[in-house]
Amino acid sequence: NKRVKVKDLLASEPTGQEVTVMGWVRTFRNNQFIALNDGSTNNNLQIVVELGMLDENTLKRITTGASLKVTGKAVPSLGKGQKMDINATSLEILGDSDAEKFPLQPKKHSLEFLREIAHLRFRTNTFGSVFRVRHALAFAVHKFFNEKGFVYMHTPIVTASDAEGAGEMFRVTTLPFDNPPRNEDGTINFKEDFFGRSTNLTVSGQLEGELAATAFSEIYTFGPTFRAENSNTARHLAEFWMIEPEMAFCDIEDNQNLAEEFIKYLIRHVMEHNREDLEFLSQRLAEEEKQLPQDKRSEMGLIEKLEFVINNDFERITYTEAIDILLQSPAYKKKKFQYEVKWGIDMQSEHERYLVEKHFKKPVIVTGYPKEIKAFYMRQNDDGKTVAAMDILAPGIGEIVGGSQREERLDKLTERMKEMHIPAEELWWYLDTRRYGTVPHAGFGLGFERMVLFVTGMTNIRDVIAFPRTPKNAEF
Ligand code: ATP
Ligand code: MG
Ligand code: MG
Ligand code: MG
Repeated sequence: NKRVKVKDLLASEPTGQEVTVMGWVRTFRNNQFIALNDGSTNNNLQIVVELGMLDENTLKRITTGASLKVTGKAVPSLGKGQKMDINATSLEILGDSDAEKFPLQPKKHSLEFLREIAHLRFRTNTFGSVFRVRHALAFAVHKFFNEKGFVYMHTPIVTASDAEGAGEMFRVTTLPFDNPPRNEDGTINFKEDFFGRSTNLTVSGQLEGELAATAFSEIYTFGPTFRAENSNTARHLAEFWMIEPEMAFCDIEDNQNLAEEFIKYLIRHVMEHNREDLEFLSQRLAEEEKQLPQDKRSEMGLIEKLEFVINNDFERITYTEAIDILLQSPAYKKKKFQYEVKWGIDMQSEHERYLVEKHFKKPVIVTGYPKEIKAFYMRQNDDGKTVAAMDILAPGIGEIVGGSQREERLDKLTERMKEMHIPAEELWWYLDTRRYGTVPHAGFGLGFERMVLFVTGMTNIRDVIAFPRTPKNAEF
């Protein structure tokens, strides 16, 4: 007898056919009705145990969290709100669950509490939905780029390039901590380290991605990214996943078009394939918002919001326009912003969210950032002050995409590196792309967890990754 998944079973007609299901008990009522869940859907399967079929001891062992194998007949349910029951003919307990100790009782738990038991939280409806949506999004990422003929490149996890990091890197070393080899001046001698130099975990696959794009024309990476983010925010992780496409023969406008199309594609995919989960999450969010004062509640539900996003153009503005809007905003005049607003300094999440949620009421693409606040590789605009950068800002989050057209002119690039004290010798391999057949090219990075936040309506990034890595938190 082959095991059938609950989701597939519930999609079929109950005609008395014999089936075998396996899963975990969510509830057990009246010594008769078991709600069984196998993670394929939030809809539990109702197993009906006939009186007298099981002995006292077995009945006692059917507790929340226990795992079962059940064989029975699929019949139309007599109960309301469900399509079918399984009338059990045999029931085997695969694993007991101590009801006294099992932390997930059949009631609503706070997300904060569930974060402390992240190893068990997959067994809740909320996390069931979140991680099925996350899975679907990951699949859609590959589908999108595959349809467009992009080559999936695996850029390295361990790298020596520290061009971007600005102190956010995790070191990788095999040198002993207690007595590392030292140079004459007392500094650690990384020549004796495993790779013969100091290395770190990647903060972005972009530089390596550019090398590949200038051979395959269009590539993307989708892998883990590491940043020793010191602040505890609801949108930063120390380990997150990033999708980074890089395109040759592409300018900043093509880049914006691709990013917008990509985000809409991902949302559309989930709307088509994960309707049930989105409806659950939408409902959950609505209930949560009922606790908020009227003026803090959103005008649209989650699904409506996503529909609006895919059916409308993103707003496109320059950084200079963004700063002007902020300076003229009621929020600024009433001193509601915590951080300074001024041309030349980076916008904070509160500013980005103001533009999206209060001003434009739709996602916003901001281009033309001051060169001082952006990386060395971004293409310089003719005004001498700004670069061809772009950020995409989303409701509830702020920045979800950071990208740019890259500086393809060798002289401009090396000049900028000199100004920023980045030694050209260390990036000789990167500069080779500009020496041999340089082309206009562009790319962006989409933070995968921020995209999952966007689509699920969850508000804390720790709740959209299975095992969040944040300061002082890496136990499991
Ligand atoms: P932020 O301003 O939010 O710190 P960033 O500008 O430092 O982001 P980029 O270097 O532009 O980030 O990286 C590209 C994308 O990766 C960001 O737009 C964001 O979606 C995502 N990202 C960056 N840092 C993190 C992080 N610590 N945790 C999760 N996602 C991140
Ligand atoms: Mg950052
Ligand atoms: Mg940023
Ligand atoms: Mg950025």
